[in-house]
Amino acid sequence: MLTQGNYRWDETTEIIVIGYGLSGAVAAITAHDLGARVTLLEKQPAETHNTSSSLAMGVFLSISNVKRATEYMAALNQVGSYPELPWTDAEAVKAWITYTAQNKDWMVRLGGNVKLVSTLVEFPGLPGDDSMELWKYQGNGLRMMKFMYEQVASRRIDVRYQTSAVRLLTDNTGRVTGAKVLDSRGGRPREINIRATRAVVLCSGGFEESEAMKLQYLRVNPMYFAGGTGNTGDGIRMAQEVGADLWHMNCVSARLCAKFPDFYMGIFIDFSGGGWSQNTMKTDKGKLPAGFIIVDKYGRRYMTEELKPHTASYECGWFDSYKLEYPRVPSYHIFDRRRIEYSPLAQLASGPTGPHRLYTWSRDNTVELRKGWIVQGDTVAELAANLNMPPEILTDTIATWNKCCQAGSDPDFGRNPLELVPLDEPPFYAIKLFPGGSNTLGGPRRNGRAQVLNPFGEPIPGLYAAGECGSVFGLLYPAGGGNLGECIAFGRIAAENAVKEGYKKSLKGGK
Ligand SMILES: Cc1cc2nc3c(=O)[nH]c(=O)nc-3n(C[C@H](O)[C@H](O)[C@H](O)COP(=O)(O)OP(=O)(O)OC[C@H]3O[C@@H](n4cnc5c(N)ncnc54)[C@H](O)[C@@H]3O)c2cc1C
Repeated sequence: MLTQGNYRWDETTEIIVIGYGLSGAVAAITAHDLGARVTLLEKQPAETHNTSSSLAMGVFLSISNVKRATEYMAALNQVGSYPELPWTDAEAVKAWITYTAQNKDWMVRLGGNVKLVSTLVEFPGLPGDDSMELWKYQGNGLRMMKFMYEQVASRRIDVRYQTSAVRLLTDNTGRVTGAKVLDSRGGRPREINIRATRAVVLCSGGFEESEAMKLQYLRVNPMYFAGGTGNTGDGIRMAQEVGADLWHMNCVSARLCAKFPDFYMGIFIDFSGGGWSQNTMKTDKGKLPAGFIIVDKYGRRYMTEELKPHTASYECGWFDSYKLEYPRVPSYHIFDRRRIEYSPLAQLASGPTGPHRLYTWSRDNTVELRKGWIVQGDTVAELAANLNMPPEILTDTIATWNKCCQAGSDPDFGRNPLELVPLDEPPFYAIKLFPGGSNTLGGPRRNGRAQVLNPFGEPIPGLYAAGECGSVFGLLYPAGGGNLGECIAFGRIAAENAVKEGYKKSLKGGK
């Protein structure tokens, strides 16, 4: 095994932070401000660096009532689980709540420009649903990250782009003592061993861009995501090698998103023309400007399209054991002339079509129509034929939908009456959808001190994790802003505990 014994150390620091998204930035700033020497490793080049954090909308949770938040999280953690076996250990939840209650003040103290945008949680009706505040970094996730980059740059933090952590290094007792990294700066990659005399903090995100890991761990396949292209599960594999237990590997914060063969990322669709993807944070919803439905690959509706933005992807996971397929993968976003003429069909507030502009979606959707990303039919039957779908099923689905709109009620799926807008203005259109969108949640299990645990619940000395690399959220994600909130909370928890570690023995013992 690579990771036992002494190494030839090429460099020494006190804390290595792996990954420069929000959790990495928060951990590095906190550890530095507590007096530690920090080396922050980022595998991407600075010029093209994108992360889920910088592609995000910039909404982060802050908790307004700790007691009620504890009730809410306890309720969420038992859905699809058991009271005695919740998705997440109570100690980790408690730490998350305690620190998340300070998130907004922490950001403001740092000088961040934030605004309260909502108090609407993802699952209203559960106990404690009035305990959360959704704050937004003014602008978007990219603005937020630019602010964080400035904060890091104003400190003596050693930031290394194009430097990928490849393995964790341990001593003979199993303590993590450093990392083997591939330094690709200057063109010629070279492997070096960096010793961390205090600890290593994994902030390397999830496994949205690893097809192999998604196939093995997620509930449905394929899934596509609209976040950081560096998130290939590296931190998870490195933690596994040194004995980490994994949790939440089959859990995601995801809905349905578009994925086109000639573009490398998922794209969030603005289904209704409301600006946000459906039902994100709008509390003042008026009648939709244009109608839409989501159907399976045969043309049947299967859920209310008033999507739970961080949970709806689970609805795609039904596998037909006779046909040997997932009938809901792909699904289709179906709309008519009113929607295509209303506004761009991609969401412009986050993801690759957002401020990062990894893809510039045309204002009038014509470029994407020409590319075949949007499929057209002059009649519903023609659209169905163009989608290789039985025309009679889609025709029947849309006729039923239009009757529901006329009657003002959707008895089969309970769609909000404000969304009952008919599909009756040709041409008709479709965009192919896949389960996906934001992010995976699984990774190394951690405790309330952000220490990575082995399968017996014992901390692996010298190893911490924060953010999406082993998120505290299980099946259900509490509310918009949960992930960035977790980066701010656990980035601080990890750093505060990591700086307390001192690995005196290795200072003498290394070769
Ligand atoms: C379009 C979109 C919108 C979203 N909007 C929101 C929102 O508004 N609010 C919210 O709470 N959540 C949102 N999310 C989710 C949220 O953005 C992520 O969960 C969160 O940003 C993850 O942060 P992180 O620090 O854990 O990882 P990331 O921000 O993904 O950063 C991980 C970094 O680690 C680097 N890395 C990976 N492996 C290595 C390695 N081996 N060596 C060195 N570096 C490595 C990567 O290159 C990357 O830079 C959104 C997600 C998407 C995709």
